[in-house]
Amino acid sequence: MAPSGFSSTGKTSTNAANQLDPRYRGSPYADSKDEQPILSPDSTAALLLDSRRFVDSVESMKTGEALLKPLLSSVMGLPHRLAFLSYSGFDLFDSLPLIMASENGCYLTSTGILTYDRLRDLPCSCPACSSGKRGRDALLKHNYMTAEMELRMVRHAISQGTLRELVENRVRTDPWLVQNLRLLDLEHQELLERHAPIKGTPFHAGSKESLNRPEILRWRKRLETRYARPAGTRILVLIPCSARKPYSFSKSHMRFRQAIQQSGKADLVHEVIVTSPIGLVPRELELFYPAQDYDIPVTGHWDRDEKVLAQEMVSWLVSSQKYDLVISHLGDEREPVNAALEDFVDTSLGSPGSHESLERLEKTLRETNLQPHQGRDADRSIEDMRSISRFQFGDIGSKLCDDVHLWGRWPNVKLMRGNDQLGMLTGERGMISLTMEGARVIAAEGKYCVEIDDFVPKGNLFAIGVEGASDDIRIGDDVAVVHRGEVRGVGVAVMSPEEMILADRGEAVHIRHTR
Ligand SMILES: [Zn+2]
Repeated sequence: MAPSGFSSTGKTSTNAANQLDPRYRGSPYADSKDEQPILSPDSTAALLLDSRRFVDSVESMKTGEALLKPLLSSVMGLPHRLAFLSYSGFDLFDSLPLIMASENGCYLTSTGILTYDRLRDLPCSCPACSSGKRGRDALLKHNYMTAEMELRMVRHAISQGTLRELVENRVRTDPWLVQNLRLLDLEHQELLERHAPIKGTPFHAGSKESLNRPEILRWRKRLETRYARPAGTRILVLIPCSARKPYSFSKSHMRFRQAIQQSGKADLVHEVIVTSPIGLVPRELELFYPAQDYDIPVTGHWDRDEKVLAQEMVSWLVSSQKYDLVISHLGDEREPVNAALEDFVDTSLGSPGSHESLERLEKTLRETNLQPHQGRDADRSIEDMRSISRFQFGDIGSKLCDDVHLWGRWPNVKLMRGNDQLGMLTGERGMISLTMEGARVIAAEGKYCVEIDDFVPKGNLFAIGVEGASDDIRIGDDVAVVHRGEVRGVGVAVMSPEEMILADRGEAVHIRHTR
């Protein structure tokens, strides 16, 4: 019986009767892949007029059984829209919009449409534009060339994991695209989040839309649903972010930590970084994607959206985590954050790095009469690790840290239970990589599990061998490969759970260890 929250193909490859069923993927009577129909949205013209209709149709086409069917975009695929349409799941584009644009005298570029007649110099050096000839034929050739080059750019961005940045860049000149992106982000977050890798590439958060990237919304949601402050901490110290990441390696953060250490209360202190666009980063999570993988333009000015976000998250933190003392040691974000706090001490007075402020922080901590709770022997480094593990795996992650000791030098730290290694935190991944022992702990409750038939994976696990996968898995997650509760392997998910179940080919799990 599959645990709840577990999707399954509902088929076992040992059942001979299934092999006669054309719906069964191994059946000789099954439709071949080549005959699979291509999906295309209905009434493209209406989608071009109505953004909400567009995003709703993306949601319905990219959910359920049809997820892997190739998606054709007819008429919509102008070069500057190709990045966004690809991001929305479209795979195929026709040349109709390029022909129509040429008939209407539209000179297409990767950032928008120009009027051919008004161009004194052509801003392009493709063969058609450099020929010196003008006319419908030259324009059509140029438009084809532009679309081809943009498609290459999109393919490159997909291979590098930077498609979202290209999209934010390209939507600017077309209100339809901006509307679509914002509606997708705000009203179809779950769809985007399901397909966003848990560990992606570093990115530049340079636009308003960056605030609502799926990885960032996931971060905030995980804080709200999975987070608990490390046991034993009683004092919240809010500090600003740093350009250098992880923050711990920056000079400013070294000075904050020195002041905290010298106060003699470091074990009670929970440092939380206030930052845009993520909102809050508890110190122990600073390696987790995307906390060390983003950069923002720094002007010292926070816009309204950023202020409201910081206020909401700080209010949530203080009310949910219940500290005995709250210290605000902030810079540019100090005013809005302080306005959201009720009972607190401001030690920075706006210049967190100054000598006086650092002394005030140390003195305030030293003079507080808060002491560690009696009868608790919580080891702080283990509680920090527990927080990371819970953020990564949910509640079951907490069990991974029961009765462990840690070995190694941060950020590369092994989790040991007796002589068995359960996993290892690495600075490069920013999360815990499991061993077989660790996978058994996580799999005990059916979380982060990929179900296979009765075999032991040799090399990597391909989608054809997947019987089911738990819904909590995201691309890049550590997963246990199990057969009826027995862990047969452990590795990193290369597909979303829906894709693993539906796909006939391709690597589903990159295996690290097998039984
Ligand atoms: Zn050209």
